[in-house]
Amino acid sequence: MTKLLFQDDSYIKNFEAEIKEIVEDTVVLNQTAFAYRGGGLQSDTGYLETTSGEKYELIEAYFKGGKVLHKLSPTPQKSLLNQKVSCSINWDARYRQMRMHTALHALSGILFKKYGSTVTGGNITPEKSRVDFEIDHLRQERVEEIVKEINEILVGDHPVSVSYMKREEALIIPDLIRTKVNLIPERVKTLRIVEIKGVDMQADGGVHVANTNEIGEFVSLKSENRGKNNKRLYFTVKP
Ligand SMILES: [Zn+2]
Repeated sequence: MTKLLFQDDSYIKNFEAEIKEIVEDTVVLNQTAFAYRGGGLQSDTGYLETTSGEKYELIEAYFKGGKVLHKLSPTPQKSLLNQKVSCSINWDARYRQMRMHTALHALSGILFKKYGSTVTGGNITPEKSRVDFEIDHLRQERVEEIVKEINEILVGDHPVSVSYMKREEALIIPDLIRTKVNLIPERVKTLRIVEIKGVDMQADGGVHVANTNEIGEFVSLKSENRGKNNKRLYFTVKP
């Protein structure tokens, strides 16, 4: 099992690891701070360097067959097995994803508390993100109102915390019920909970900033009507 360093500390930019397995053009590490693709977030990119100075680019990290696979370029040689590597994350892209991701969670809290609207999907990239939610209509005035509300939250001091909770405890917390904690597979007994104090609480495996005041300004790019109850908003964060 690879230890997921990014789940307890989203601010690790460089770390040491050991290559435990080589699977085609990917490697499995004993521990990783590279956040892998999933939960609507893109994979980190970055570099791995051996003690003898061989450098590999991390193209993508993803979860498959119970393993976190790190796809490298050039293709890793068998001699890499059991070697120690110094790893560095492409921080600019990662940090923007963290800001976008926490903004999406804050938006989810606002949409529910203010409009009773549930987020049904989302996709985050460092440049531009989208969120899908259930709401009957989404005219321009309402988009402007939502943007104003989220920006009021973002400039405020709302710490973001990560904690772990037993499944049975999570199933009775209203914010977690709303974000469909019951749909998490039964075999998952301990849930990682991300809370934006006073704004939102969700079971989540991804990387976040530590406080909403790190996010910057939320900017709506475009809204789309995708059916009676289904609306989509594209957004970014500035700068
Ligand atoms: Zn999330």
